Amino acid sequence: MSERQLPDDLSIETLAIRAAELRTGEMTHSEPLFLTSSFVYENAAQAAARFAGDEPGNVYSRFTNPTVSIFEQRLAAMEGGERCVAFASGMAAITSTFLALLKPGDHIVSSRGVFGTTNVVYEKYLKKFGIETTLVDLTDLDAWRAAVRPETRFLYLETPSNPLAEVGDIRALAELAHAHDAQLIVDNCFCSPALQQPLALGADLVIHSATKYLDGQGRCLGGAVVGPKTTLDDIYGFLRSTGATMSAFNAWVFIKGLETLSLRMKAHSDNAQALADWLVQRPGIARVHYAGLKDHPQHALAKQQQSGFGGVLSIEVEDSAGARDRQAAWRFIDATRLVSITANLGDVKTTITHPATTTHGRVSAEEKQRSGITENLIRIAVGLEGLADLKADMARGITALGHLVR
Ligand SMILES: *Cc1c(COP(=O)(O)O)cnc(C)c1O
Repeated sequence: MSERQLPDDLSIETLAIRAAELRTGEMTHSEPLFLTSSFVYENAAQAAARFAGDEPGNVYSRFTNPTVSIFEQRLAAMEGGERCVAFASGMAAITSTFLALLKPGDHIVSSRGVFGTTNVVYEKYLKKFGIETTLVDLTDLDAWRAAVRPETRFLYLETPSNPLAEVGDIRALAELAHAHDAQLIVDNCFCSPALQQPLALGADLVIHSATKYLDGQGRCLGGAVVGPKTTLDDIYGFLRSTGATMSAFNAWVFIKGLETLSLRMKAHSDNAQALADWLVQRPGIARVHYAGLKDHPQHALAKQQQSGFGGVLSIEVEDSAGARDRQAAWRFIDATRLVSITANLGDVKTTITHPATTTHGRVSAEEKQRSGITENLIRIAVGLEGLADLKADMARGITALGHLVR
């Protein structure tokens, strides 16, 4: 087998296709899928050297698999990080990062609007091990500053946020973290490296749910962490012993996903922007949340730190009698015939969801109100179907609210 030596300074589009290319003795062109749990040795001495870590090479697929390694190296190259470690899911990547690097008494400051299950990890599990989390508004730098304590180890955020598409200032938050000997972790799931590279903006670690845009077609679960080698070596050590490993098959699917990531992210962004521009003008749409709109509060910041605005937007609906409630939202959703009613995102298929009763259903009423998850809010993760067909489907929703669509 041979790894190809690539020229320097390649673009992200090229890295997505060429980084960590591995050719087998059969001179395969597509990356090989190594479905094997273990590996064999030439002799007993080699087995001993591999187990001791004195000789590089594969031992067991819980911790090394050549297909998974291709995915890791390629994603690391695209994020501009030294090392990547892949996991069985985004939540496995997030939880393993915390458990590998934190100890009782440590503290996290996190944006309020993070993925619902990440909040469950904070509240139910990290707390149990004596690790406390303070939640702050993503866009309120003073609140981040005020929440930092001597024992704060991580500042953690998702940007753009789900579902309100608020944008956090990665550069400013990295500076704040470093001024207090803490690290900034960015969940880069919504942009992917094709639209945003947090490490270049000063972040220390990037986390992914590969389940979303890295796959891009809603097939496999996976996760990853990217960052400096020393930190990732510690996270790898945790994975090696605890075993939330990405499967070789899923890694192979994600490798194929990465190859078209830049193209897809651009197409998702174009479709979402066009749909947002159209929705803003329609009756029954009280508000559109999308950073690509000029009146979005962080439009300028998003333009600066992202190369596209992404595929996720949300709308607040109002029926013809002026009601902005759950019933209005559900009527809109149930009137669609093309888009899928599901909470997943990052798929070529457009999805529609009611955050207040699904993704944020377990969040307390008070917390929902604080983070703007209103009953009339609908999230749309815009896919790659024809724009006219998506508009027609949204028009069905608007008609169901009693408005005349033109
Ligand atoms: C889906 C998601 C996760 C969790 O990933 P899984 O692969 O479902 O475990 C984490 N963060 C964000 C922003 C997500 O959208």
